[in-house]
Amino acid sequence: METTDLPTPKRIALIAHDGRKDDLLEWVKYNQGTLSHHFLYATGSTGALIAKETGLPVHRFLSGPLGGDQQIGAKIAEGEIDFLIFFWDPLEPQPHDPDIKALLRLAVLYNIPTASNRATADFLIASPLMNQPYQRHLNLRPPRSA
Ligand code: PGA
Repeated sequence: METTDLPTPKRIALIAHDGRKDDLLEWVKYNQGTLSHHFLYATGSTGALIAKETGLPVHRFLSGPLGGDQQIGAKIAEGEIDFLIFFWDPLEPQPHDPDIKALLRLAVLYNIPTASNRATADFLIASPLMNQPYQRHLNLRPPRSA
């Protein structure tokens, strides 16, 4: 099976739907010191909020409903983002639901650490692996032919 290194510092994508933005912002503020040692990426509105409220440098993609989730998915596929904190909203339908599903699919396919809620994000960021290179296993077998 193929492996590839997740580097240190990590390249972390941060995304929150509107109903979860306060939750993500609080988590980012609490972990600001740790996050400042990594490279941060975000969808448009989430990134603007984090940059304004914390001063952390954040590379911003388009807003999620305008293609930002797809841009982040593409970066995961290209090996340029290796960590996903995505607080998606379990209580509200989203216009870009297919993009969300596609992004979560790529996160699983490329085997990157992914958190969709605060408890998981807390466990991930407390991991000693945050500060070590990590050998990620990839099982990118071609689709079975009919
Ligand atoms: P936003 O996008 O950060 O631009 O609000 C998040 C999303 O809806 O995926």
